[in-house]
Amino acid sequence: MPEVLQGAGVSPGVGAGPVRTIAGAVPEPPAGSTHGGDAEAERATALAALEAVAVELEERGTRAAAVGNPMGEEVLGAQALMARDPGLADDVRARIDRGVAAPRAVFESFGVYRDLLAGAGEYMAARVTDLDDIRDRALARLLGLPMPGVPESDEPFVLVARDLAPADTAVLDPAQVIAFVTEEGGPTSHTAIIARTMGVPAVVALPGATALADGTRVLVDGAAGTVRPDPSEADVAAARAAAAARAAALEDSTGPGATKDGHKVPLLANIGGPKDVDAARANGAEGVGLYRTEFLFLDRHKAPTDEEQEAAYRTVLEVFPEGRVVVRTLDAGADKPLKFLPPPGEEPNPALGERGLRMSRRYPDVLAAQLAALARATAGLTTKLQVMAPMVTDAAEAAFFAAACRDAGIAHPGVMIEVPAAALRARDIAPEVEFFSIGTNDLTQYACAADRQVGGLAHLQDPWQPAILDLVAPAAEAGVPCGVCGEAAADPALACVLVGLGVTSLSMSAPALPLVRAALARHTLDECRQAAAAARAARTVAQAREAARAHLPGLAELGI
Ligand code: PEP
Ligand code: MG
Repeated sequence: MPEVLQGAGVSPGVGAGPVRTIAGAVPEPPAGSTHGGDAEAERATALAALEAVAVELEERGTRAAAVGNPMGEEVLGAQALMARDPGLADDVRARIDRGVAAPRAVFESFGVYRDLLAGAGEYMAARVTDLDDIRDRALARLLGLPMPGVPESDEPFVLVARDLAPADTAVLDPAQVIAFVTEEGGPTSHTAIIARTMGVPAVVALPGATALADGTRVLVDGAAGTVRPDPSEADVAAARAAAAARAAALEDSTGPGATKDGHKVPLLANIGGPKDVDAARANGAEGVGLYRTEFLFLDRHKAPTDEEQEAAYRTVLEVFPEGRVVVRTLDAGADKPLKFLPPPGEEPNPALGERGLRMSRRYPDVLAAQLAALARATAGLTTKLQVMAPMVTDAAEAAFFAAACRDAGIAHPGVMIEVPAAALRARDIAPEVEFFSIGTNDLTQYACAADRQVGGLAHLQDPWQPAILDLVAPAAEAGVPCGVCGEAAADPALACVLVGLGVTSLSMSAPALPLVRAALARHTLDECRQAAAAARAARTVAQAREAARAHLPGLAELGI
């Protein structure tokens, strides 16, 4: 293994600790495998594995509750019940009595339930993944393989995985995770977003990361994108000193966002729920620019109740009485599936399928309930509530959403601009709504035809692509206030360029706020405009970065 592994640094900071890997898929036990003849022992082994899985799921549920995730506890408790299902146990016993080996018997018995669930309507079909998880846990025990899912550890660790799904992180205790390292995932993948939100260093798009043996000590530099196995104490100290120097340069980064010559650019936080509000405030957010409401319900089987939605929104609204909170309606589908909003069937390209507003049109009652809960949550508060829809493509969709908002009594409707068609024809959409928020993560994914979850395409998932700047410009010039809430806003140099293009506010993971604030404060609006023009005139990502930096001399003072 080389001395230093290079990936894409997506969440700054330095951390060193032992590797814990999320194990890959558990293989299917071969069809026709039989046991040695002792059916009684084989039955006992199979049933003990199922019981052990149930106990472990219950324990994880208790831990999820302890880290403030009662929903995780509910889901894990339901999974434990499935593992103890008497019908399942009978089926496993019967197969073993016919000579089938325990692992294969377990696999086949789960298969029966899987088929039943898959054919029992959309709601039940969405539970197949849970069933597969229990099966894989039981099989891992029976086959002596590492347990799938987030690993257990008595000490803080560097979490290494092929990729992380948002649901994988539901039971993570932030105090336990030193850093994330993944083979897949680009700079805008949810691994990157979650890491930045948690303030944990992260490196993604690192091929071969899962080959790092469990327990190997590694040094992760989330700014440089490097992972060094077996670092010396001097390596660790040097990396920490560099990170501390940058932190010191940020000490004067306080107050509302503005350029050096006083052009105001509100700096807002992206959050996934009330748990992220403290970090937003600690980093000086002037409000919330993107409340990803689907993150509240990722592990839910049933639609949330009106009361719990109202409470989750009100808790956040109350924190910013003089600011704004931009709530996004559920962006279900593709990389953020919600079990209670399943797509109509197997989608060959989920990112191009039913997600975001498209899903809300399929389930209008869920949209209406969410908007009503938001309207109730804001009653009596001074916070400006703005509500926007994800994945809007054209003016007709924007009009549909604005009408739904009007019906619910929401005063400030907006749309995300994250589909290239919407960016190109932003002027058609502007009359329908009060504001835009550009989602550069998806805008880049769709404009560059590069799936944001595929690590090998990280170079194309880059919002410095001049084509992306060409798409931002018409949205920023369409005549309504236009923020950016994609990860591009968290890049201090690009933040200046976006302001130069006419973007009116920037929203990002909270830990990125101080550096962006400091970068803006060191440049005039005119410098930002020149940087934007230079970047747009460039022909490649590298040239765009370089051309913009030539007009942003203050970045060097910040060590970036
Ligand atoms: C985006 O696409 O840029 C965005 C902010 O939304 P999400 O990352 O949640 O898809
Ligand atoms: Mg998006």
